[in-house]
Amino acid sequence: MTETNRKLLRFIDASPTAWHACANLVPRLQEAGYRELRETEGWELRLGGKYFIRRNGSSMIAFRVPEGKFPGFLMMAAHLDSPLFKLRGKPESPSAGVYTRLSVERYGSMLCAPWLDRPLSVAGRVTVREGGKLVTKLVNIERDLALIPNLAIHMDRTANDGKQYDIKVDMLPLFGSEKAAGRMEAIAAEAAGVGPEDLVSADLYLYPRTPGVCFGADEEYIAAPRLDDLQCAFGCFEGFLTAQPGGNAPLLCLFDNEEVGSTTKQGANSDFLADALRRICEALGRDFYRSVSSSFMVSADNAHAVHPNHPEYADSQDRPVINGGIVIKHHANQKYATDAVSEAVFAEICCRAGVPVQHYSNRADLLGGATLGNISTSHVSVDSVDIGLAQLAMHSCYETAGAADTDYLIRAARAYYESGFRRTAEGIEL
Ligand code: ZN
Repeated sequence: MTETNRKLLRFIDASPTAWHACANLVPRLQEAGYRELRETEGWELRLGGKYFIRRNGSSMIAFRVPEGKFPGFLMMAAHLDSPLFKLRGKPESPSAGVYTRLSVERYGSMLCAPWLDRPLSVAGRVTVREGGKLVTKLVNIERDLALIPNLAIHMDRTANDGKQYDIKVDMLPLFGSEKAAGRMEAIAAEAAGVGPEDLVSADLYLYPRTPGVCFGADEEYIAAPRLDDLQCAFGCFEGFLTAQPGGNAPLLCLFDNEEVGSTTKQGANSDFLADALRRICEALGRDFYRSVSSSFMVSADNAHAVHPNHPEYADSQDRPVINGGIVIKHHANQKYATDAVSEAVFAEICCRAGVPVQHYSNRADLLGGATLGNISTSHVSVDSVDIGLAQLAMHSCYETAGAADTDYLIRAARAYYESGFRRTAEGIEL
């Protein structure tokens, strides 16, 4: 396994929720000299400074201020959340007089079947009483805690003929015997280092415990939970962190809540990015509108690769392949923000960096998913391109992608941030 994939899979394994993904990146930023700014405080920025901001603990914006004059911001965005099952307020539900199950509801739209018959655990954030204050803490139980058992084929002979999953019946995980009633809150409290009486509230999620692997005749694939979109988040982050100074201010946004439409206070459809840009411009004495007009956005979210068993679902031309490099996404109705100008800019940067580029369009009669690009640019109007890495089984709890593609994204992100992007009356300089 390559060092990049080892690091990626370690990051994914340690990041069952967006809060954990966000928290796991903080030490890397701090080691590299980034200082955290708080939205509740005034910002004093200096030339050459490195900063990051978090909102809700689950979304993050990191940026560097160049030493000298710069036209605008080169931005990348990815998302940190994935479809999961959320534990309900009263998390336990008895069954058959001999079992305790966990009561769950859907976060995002997942494929249900892969969640069955595999070890699951619980992670998220809790609010506890500590020292007379309400304190928020992250918890990760990190042991095999629950499992959603299938019904045997003998009891449902039609199970292989197209199964409908009723979340409130089929997806409740087995958590223990009837004696386990009340144990979930106690386990969460213990993980937070408080007694159960001081656990006030919780946002807890089930997550699959299966670790990531490389597989294939030549180990050409990686499989792991949450590759959408932690693979892109990781690739953009590594490129951002290692880029040498270019002509603009590099900025990276990692958003929560893409899987539920982004309309939360910390999602891409919030004022988080616009507020941050306004405050950066204010602190540096810059004109916000001129800065934004001189900026560019790359939205990175994984894309559908042509499927080995079902190539008929792919477009006949724009069908990305795994390990084929950066996927540029196109959509006539602009669910993807790519247009001829933004495509040209990013494709040219990739070409100069020796990174292969391929193209994705939905099969013309299929509705695709939306992503971050057109949502965040509805708040900050900049030229934007939607890209991703090709993967299979999107929204399964164990997805498959390319072992070579993360390195392509790191190289493309680095080259983008290092570029001399500048608009002039005659055209765009890179
Ligand atoms: Zn995604």
